[in-house]
Amino acid sequence: MNVLISGAAGFIGSHLCERLLAEGHTVTGIDNFITGSPQNLAHLNELIFHEADATSLDFVQKMDALGPFDLVLHLASLASPKDYLNYPIETLESGSTATRNMLEVARLFNARFLLTSTSECYGDPLEHPQKESYWGNVNPIGPRSCYDESKRFAEALTMAYHRKFGLRTNIARIFNTYGPRMKLDDGRVVPAFLSQALEGLPLTVFGDGTQTRSFCYVDDLVDGLCRLMLSEEREPVNLGNPEEITLLEFAERIQRLLGTASPLEFHPLPENDPTRRQPDISKAKRVLGWEPKIGLEEGLARTVKALPGANIQSSS
Ligand code: UDP
Repeated sequence: MNVLISGAAGFIGSHLCERLLAEGHTVTGIDNFITGSPQNLAHLNELIFHEADATSLDFVQKMDALGPFDLVLHLASLASPKDYLNYPIETLESGSTATRNMLEVARLFNARFLLTSTSECYGDPLEHPQKESYWGNVNPIGPRSCYDESKRFAEALTMAYHRKFGLRTNIARIFNTYGPRMKLDDGRVVPAFLSQALEGLPLTVFGDGTQTRSFCYVDDLVDGLCRLMLSEEREPVNLGNPEEITLLEFAERIQRLLGTASPLEFHPLPENDPTRRQPDISKAKRVLGWEPKIGLEEGLARTVKALPGANIQSSS
């Protein structure tokens, strides 16, 4: 198949390109490098890459010249809280204008379309674990709203294109994902704790550390995306690892894994930071036959091993 991926140079995008190329597809990647990095793609010789901004006025026309495509995958997004707080307008644009443009490209070629959405659609959830049927608890004007609301808009737009034009669309709600090629300084907790532990610095715990997250290794996530992009399921599907852990427990795992005694350093909890997050993945199991296979210990060990210059022996 001919596949177009926006956000190809990002963390998840680059892993997805790698997998699709390995399966023999022709993959065209685009990225504007606002948060992605050319280095993430340096090993992918067969990738057709174009630096392009999916929010630009002539974007659909440009992609028209690069097609045809059978599959259009919209991954371009500023997914780290640090990034979307720095670039709130661009974040809103990637959910709105860029999503519309990518949907138009899919419509042009009658291609399948996949949107990578987020567990942030559930906001600070009042339902636990989160099922796709839960409508969420999002502050529409809070600091995270640029991300949460743009993804909620992107989901609404995707469903509108499906309902209005019969486009074959899929929506993945991605929960916290980690693995090799995350930027160590992108502010998210996995790279933050790993880099702090490796440098012997204190681990910066926001709040009292009792908030929970459920971390999914990137290979599992990519496998879920590959199944979803060919499925007939039109409504959102949660993709994540249901192994829920508090941030305090997570800090201890990192200390144990790296054999460091980095102390914990407590910082104020960012505004609207969700207190609990755990995917209910029964829908993904049912409609995709998918569930994660790589547990946290194994995934973290693989992530550490892939760190440039990491020479610390994992103690697990
Ligand atoms: N967090 C933390 N220390 C850090 C970075 C993040 O304690 O250095 C916390 C953050 O407040 C949140 C959780 O870790 O409760 C996950 O944050 P992340 O930015 O990775 O992703 P989020 O799930 O908030 O999108």
